[in-house]
Amino acid sequence: MKYSFNEKELLDLFVSNDESRPLFMHPYIKDGYVCATDNRQIIRIKADALNGEYEPTDRMNLEWPNESCDYIITDKDLEKALASIPQVEEEIETGEDVKCPECDGTGTVYWEYDDRNFKSYEREFDCPVCDGSGYVEEAQVKKTGKMIPDPTAAVGIANNALRIDNIQTLLEAMKIIGTAEIHLVAQVDYKNLFKIDDNISILIADYFKDADYIIKTKEE
Ligand SMILES: [Zn+2]
Repeated sequence: MKYSFNEKELLDLFVSNDESRPLFMHPYIKDGYVCATDNRQIIRIKADALNGEYEPTDRMNLEWPNESCDYIITDKDLEKALASIPQVEEEIETGEDVKCPECDGTGTVYWEYDDRNFKSYEREFDCPVCDGSGYVEEAQVKKTGKMIPDPTAAVGIANNALRIDNIQTLLEAMKIIGTAEIHLVAQVDYKNLFKIDDNISILIADYFKDADYIIKTKEE
């Protein structure tokens, strides 16, 4: 049986926009699974259960931990976690950094000083054109006025704490798939393995010592 959810939308949650790392910009088939990753979080879905065509890769040789626990986490748990951590005003960057042409973005230039005996001294100092910043124009950070969960906060699940964007990705993925719960089935070092069903798993590499909010989990 094939899934009827929007598989492109789901896989796009996990790929990277970084054009310098093309391997992470598209989903690939590896060992019968379609995998999409930005190198921090990866989703794999049995290829038979999807409708799209995907290119095979011989890379993405990742070790998936064995299942060693079973905690059920619901969409409500994740929503509550996101609402409970400190909220901050959203900031977006506008404009771009423009390198200082005088120091070529290094922020330093050589200055020469001649003493009264006409001896010359050369020293490296802050560039006077950009005041040592290396930029003549810098991207501006603008507040949007919208309150969002602090992106630097962490949410504890069982023994690890995960980044806010990972929690948001999990929640988005559950919404697209149309499920209200997800199972945490392994936590090995910094790897957290989540299972949606027998065909879909998500591995998140993240570990923080301190969580700003802890999801209360009970083992199945
Ligand atoms: Zn400069």
